[in-house]
Amino acid sequence: MNFEKDVPLDGFTSIGIGGKADFFLRARDKEDLKKGIEFSRAQDRSLFILGGGSNTIFGDVKGIVIKMEEFFPLKVLNDGHELRIKVSGGTPLKEVIGFAVRENLDRIFRLAGFPATVGGAVAMNAGAFDVEISEFIEEVEFLDWEGKIQRVNKKEIAFGYRASPFPQMGVVTEVVLRLRRSENPVKEEFAIIRDRRKRSQPINKKTSGSTFKNPSGEKAGRLLDSAGLKGYRVGNVSFSDLHANFMINLGGATISEVRDLINTAKERVKERTGYLLEEEVRLIEDCGSNGWKVL
Ligand SMILES: Cc1cc2nc3c(=O)[nH]c(=O)nc-3n(C[C@H](O)[C@H](O)[C@H](O)COP(=O)(O)OP(=O)(O)OC[C@H]3O[C@@H](n4cnc5c(N)ncnc54)[C@H](O)[C@@H]3O)c2cc1C
Repeated sequence: MNFEKDVPLDGFTSIGIGGKADFFLRARDKEDLKKGIEFSRAQDRSLFILGGGSNTIFGDVKGIVIKMEEFFPLKVLNDGHELRIKVSGGTPLKEVIGFAVRENLDRIFRLAGFPATVGGAVAMNAGAFDVEISEFIEEVEFLDWEGKIQRVNKKEIAFGYRASPFPQMGVVTEVVLRLRRSENPVKEEFAIIRDRRKRSQPINKKTSGSTFKNPSGEKAGRLLDSAGLKGYRVGNVSFSDLHANFMINLGGATISEVRDLINTAKERVKERTGYLLEEEVRLIEDCGSNGWKVL
């Protein structure tokens, strides 16, 4: 196995924050993945499955981080008015979006603009502009923690708002998506969506997207703004001036600064508005004392 040791993790996250992983493995196929999991169990070390790192902020990981690579190129299973495609868990979501725009497929292009993998998007049930990835899922193949490949169809997966049973149930290895051709040219709407994102979100900065989930019927960004937290800074991390729910790494930020900023924001928002915000970003660090677990 090609494990790397003491690997800095900041470069594997879109916000650019990370300590080191004791062990790091790039899984290029299912065999790599199985071996990585077996190793972490045999060593009684915790394990983190990493996609595009666009919702993840690392501290030090005293276990193993497995980075999911693209196992195979996008495959078209059926063509017609409705297309079925198969992609691997480590496939960048933007490949699917690019395909959808070229083929004039409806709705999924609204998920453009974040550097996710398909597996990470499924795990988070990523969504934007009234679309969630679960809408397009027909079937998910995953490797469970006993090392068995399993297939489940969408009805068997309890998707919620930015929530799914993954990675707790296992590692997403393949996804079958069902996509419909649009009656109208999608390029125009795609350009509008891209433009809206550029204008309203700091997408060219080091960020992990939304810090907090939207409470039911409210917007986390609005609550943060009304609590005076737009632009609020702790050390080298701050909430964006453009969108209060986006944290920005101003250079050299650490996970402890992130925790401080998050805790302050939660306290202030609770005090001023009564809402208790819940993190959408995943803060991953592990002191290594609790044995094997999925982080
Ligand atoms: C500029 C920007 C804009 C964003 N806008 C949005 C938005 O509009 N909507 C939205 O929903 N999100 C948004 N995000 C957040 C983020 O892109 C999504 O949460 C995305 O789905 C994370 O995918 P990832 O591959 O980067 O996951 P990672 O950050 O690598 O991991 C996230 C979680 O998924 C798990 N995971 C990753 N791969 C797998 C796998 N193969 N099998 C099982 N579990 C896995 C990880 O263990 C972790 O728990 C944005 C982020 C940025 C940087």
